[in-house]
Amino acid sequence: MGTSAWVPTACYQCKAECSILARVEDGQVKEVRGNPRAHGKACVKGMAGIALEYSPDRLLYPMKRVGKRGEGKFERISWAEAMSILTAKLRDLKDRGEAHKLTASFFPHSITDPKWRFLNAYGGFINTALPHCDSAKIVACLKTMGGVPNHHIPPAHFTVPRGGIIILVGRHAFGGLDNAAVPRDILDAKARGAKLVVIDPIFTPDAAKADQWIPIKPGGDTAFFLGMIHHIVTQGLYDKDFGELGS
Ligand code: SF4
Repeated sequence: MGTSAWVPTACYQCKAECSILARVEDGQVKEVRGNPRAHGKACVKGMAGIALEYSPDRLLYPMKRVGKRGEGKFERISWAEAMSILTAKLRDLKDRGEAHKLTASFFPHSITDPKWRFLNAYGGFINTALPHCDSAKIVACLKTMGGVPNHHIPPAHFTVPRGGIIILVGRHAFGGLDNAAVPRDILDAKARGAKLVVIDPIFTPDAAKADQWIPIKPGGDTAFFLGMIHHIVTQGLYDKDFGELGS
């Protein structure tokens, strides 16, 4: 008789890494859903992760090109052979004093930290192509501030106090695909008395759910926020103990 169990795990279909449950039957994942114990929720992309897991096109072992570039001819090689090809190429690049030419593309979240360390150890900070998702923002922050912003949003359900305010600025929590739990968290916080303010030129699904929608002009973000900061400072509306700490 076969076995079947719901196994708690994390979705890895996007950087949100939602907490999910996977129904595993005889060693095969059959179904995915959010893990209610961890406030998780699975979006359609997360549930489609099963297709990726068992796709015949999924890369499962090192493949070496044997035909001309673009010809699509590859052959399977061992991990040992792959490692020796890679180390030889990396050593050659470094010996030529060109380690800075190594470019990697990956998303800089928790499990990629060792990759950052490797790249730093190999030849100083090496830029990444990062062509996907909000990676341009991440690279801009690395270059200008030297650090990666915390793009994992803490659940509004836990962090917004009763009667607090949630402000979404150009953020499409209800219409976008990033952290499937966020829309539900926002609605939970609203049910507990939080107010939702949406700042966006477009009347988005988020704006439709907002207590207040502020339709600024496109490109007017900086003026809007400078005005907001000016008002808060000149009217003394900020937390003085916190704001004047260290001054
Ligand atoms: S938002 Fe969707 S795809 Fe991304 S981690 Fe959560 S369930 Fe997976």
